[in-house]
This record gives sequence, structure tokens and C-alpha cells, in this order.
Amino acid sequence: MGQRHCRLSSNDLKDLLSSTYFTRKELKQWYKDFMQDCPSGSLRREEFQKIYKQFFPHGDPSKFAAFVFNVFDANSDGYISFKEFIRALSITSRGSLDEKLEWAFALYDLDKDGYITKEEMVAIVDAIYCMVGNLLDLPKDEDTPEKRVDKIFSQMDINHDGKLTKDEFREGSKGDPWIVQALSMDNPSK
Ligand code: CA
Ligand code: CA
Repeated sequence: MGQRHCRLSSNDLKDLLSSTYFTRKELKQWYKDFMQDCPSGSLRREEFQKIYKQFFPHGDPSKFAAFVFNVFDANSDGYISFKEFIRALSITSRGSLDEKLEWAFALYDLDKDGYITKEEMVAIVDAIYCMVGNLLDLPKDEDTPEKRVDKIFSQMDINHDGKLTKDEFREGSKGDPWIVQALSMDNPSK
């Protein structure tokens, strides 16, 4: 490691062509841009947070970016490699609804035990509110993360056990697209 890769190796290219929705040309361009922005070939948490800051200059996206970082960093080594970056981008930008929901579930399920608890969802919604709260015109019953999560759970938590399974989350999100929209770089206030 440590050496500079100016070009994506043909093996990596082949691998990414089959595992993402990007074309050869797009992958090459993304690689070029990625290496320009982070010549070391991997993105650290602080750098990732800085990128979010550019998108949300009026809020504080640092908490949300840190959570998203954990999902991008698929092998949890503390860095986002180009491959991890481009795979996540492929899902969040071009994936099917099911793929996006799978990805969203991984974001909310902080301890990765297969359930989303209220506490986990409050942590994420709080991070989203910090990031864009000032842009949202929130109704009174949603103006704190706790209220918002109570409302979400009252719709999604079918068996009322205080946690969401993947099925409950998948079904419920179809009726509440906000949950998934908040994940991509799209502005969740829209
Ligand atoms: Ca990694
Ligand atoms: Ca969990």
C-alpha cells in the first residue's frame, strides 16, 4: 500500500462492472475524481464529514456523516476504499428500492443485531435534524427526534415490541419515503 494508483486495475474494473450499476467510462471517471480528492486511495472519517459539510453548509452534518461512514466502510477498517465508496454510491444513487432499503436498514441498525430499536432510530433522526433541521418546517408532532420516531414506530412497529424487523421496516418505508430519501445525498428537506 501507500503507492499511488493512477489507474484502476483491470481486475478491480471487472469486479466493479459486475457489482455496480456504473459503466466502464463512469467508473474510470469516478476513480480519477476519487484519487484526485484523496490521493491516498482511501477516505478517513474526518474527510468524509468535510464532504458532507459542503453539501449542508447551514447545518451540522458531522453526526450523520459519521453514521453513513460506517455503512460505506463495509469491512470496518476505518477507511472508505474506492471500491467501498463506489459500491455504496451505486446503491444509494441507482439501486432498486429493495437495495436502498437494505442499505437504509444497515444505517439505522447501529449494533447490527438485525433489529432497529427506538434508541437507534432516535440517534439517526437526531443526526438528520442537526444536519437539515433548520431547513425543515416541522409539524408540532414531529419537531423533536423522539416525537418523529414515536410517529414512525406507531406506523411501522406492527407487533408493538419496540423494535423493527427488516420486514416491518421494508413495508413501513414504502409508506414513508422520507426514511429512505434521507440516506442519499438528496436533500431530505425536499
Ligand atoms: Ca474499509
Ligand atoms: Ca439494532
